[in-house]
Amino acid sequence: MSNFSNFIGGSWRGSDAARLPVDDPSTGEVTGSVPDSGAAEVDAAVAAARQAFETGPWARMTPADRATVLRDLASALEARFDDLVDGLVADTGCSVRMCPMLQAGAPLAHLRDFADMAPLLEKPVPYPIQSTPGFGQWELHREPVGVVGAFTPYNFPLFIAVWKIAPALLAGNTVVVKPSPLTPFGLDAFARAAEEVGLPPGVVNVVHGDRVAGEALVASPGVDLITFTGSTAVGKRVLAAAAGTAKDVILEMGGKSPAVVLPDADVELAVRGTLFSSMMHGGQACVATTRMLVPDSRYDEFLEVLRARSERLVVGPAADFATDVGPVVSQAQRVKVEKYVSAAVERGARVLTGGERPSGVPDGGHYVAPTVLVDLDNDNPAASDEIFGPVLSVLRYRDVDDAIRIANDTQYGLAAAVWSADLERARSVAARLQGGLVWINDVAQADVARTPFAGKKQSGVGTELGPDGLFAYTKVKSLYTALDDNLDARPYGAVGSDWE
Ligand code: NAD
Repeated sequence: MSNFSNFIGGSWRGSDAARLPVDDPSTGEVTGSVPDSGAAEVDAAVAAARQAFETGPWARMTPADRATVLRDLASALEARFDDLVDGLVADTGCSVRMCPMLQAGAPLAHLRDFADMAPLLEKPVPYPIQSTPGFGQWELHREPVGVVGAFTPYNFPLFIAVWKIAPALLAGNTVVVKPSPLTPFGLDAFARAAEEVGLPPGVVNVVHGDRVAGEALVASPGVDLITFTGSTAVGKRVLAAAAGTAKDVILEMGGKSPAVVLPDADVELAVRGTLFSSMMHGGQACVATTRMLVPDSRYDEFLEVLRARSERLVVGPAADFATDVGPVVSQAQRVKVEKYVSAAVERGARVLTGGERPSGVPDGGHYVAPTVLVDLDNDNPAASDEIFGPVLSVLRYRDVDDAIRIANDTQYGLAAAVWSADLERARSVAARLQGGLVWINDVAQADVARTPFAGKKQSGVGTELGPDGLFAYTKVKSLYTALDDNLDARPYGAVGSDWE
């Protein structure tokens, strides 16, 4: 059993809080627990982070020296890569074929990629306005914001933690992270690596728990910036609560991303890409293209290929190498997904494949068969809401304007894909789609940490990743230095001025 502890001020702390069970999604077996921390644990972690920021060495080190520590953290995690993969497979239910790259490898690459961005923080940055000739000079300094409160979702626990911790640390901040209580292993592994590389105490703190700990962290006057990844519903609550202390806020939230298939698209490419995007990791990826828009003229042909391909997907335990689609994270998530499917059918949708509990999988695991819903409208909740399970909704359209209207008719604006043999045409459609990340003839691509990620509409506030995502963890200080001491030249020193 893994009974996880909070990591506060460089030490592992027990807690009097009640504990929340953690299970293995592939079997449903309880594998451990986390403390359901409250205000006391959060206050201790924020105080440790504050002290480390105000009086410790971290904020005073150079960006290049902090980058060296990020690389050390990547190496420490890499040194126990196999354990990391095993732990993340059991924790998240992500299939062992995807997990090494998606859950374990990508965070290491991102730590190193952020480290390479250290030169962007060298000071002072040349100021973009002209210095006042003969009087003074301006400089722009990028300073750390202070104490960062970070929230991570259950689906990519280590990966998304690194999206936040790496730029926050590189910029000189200290961090309190509250991971999802469903998948605590990734942050535990990160804290152990931090301990091993000698990160100064209090620079990274991990407080396990759920809503109560989350609310305490958002409300804490000792926290300067909140960075949240999770659902749109919770993100909006976080945004409202952060207003109480006027904190800076970065939000990366939910999505219901369209895959717009143009009439000349390659059917195999579009179907296989869209099925991968929507079913991978049990359909629990924020950028999954879960609404496939297919032209009337090729609807039947696409359904044929979709049926054949989705029926071949193997559902099974995450640790089984043959598994294409693993379980969803919890029993509650499985019930939620199943309800969406049955409600969609009640409102007129047809199940092309899936729709039932899969057979031949371990009892107790949280399995959902890969499900393709067809003949539904965009206002069917299965087409408009983020389900976060292996469910693809296929919508038909008349012409390209109709496709773009349907694609954008959503509260979300996270990602989108366009499939077409005509790249010029695909680019003109991509330009009209409301998504922060748009792919042409592919899915799930990113240039490590260099690709900025900024959800539009109710998918995001602010930017993560890329230089903009790094600068989000800084505050600008504009510094002016007078270059002479000529009182007469100043408005408050001129003869006859009111200030004389
Ligand atoms: P969630 O919103 O339920 O939880 C996210 C985090 O917020 C967790 O740590 C949770 O414990 C905490 N939390 C819950 N209630 C809170 C409250 N009232 N105050 C403060 N914190 C609170 O999300 P989830 O179910 O863990 O993750 C799935 C969601 O995350 C999906 O909507 C998915 O699209 C989204 N996601 C978005 C991105 C992105 O980059 N846009 C990436 C991954 C996941």
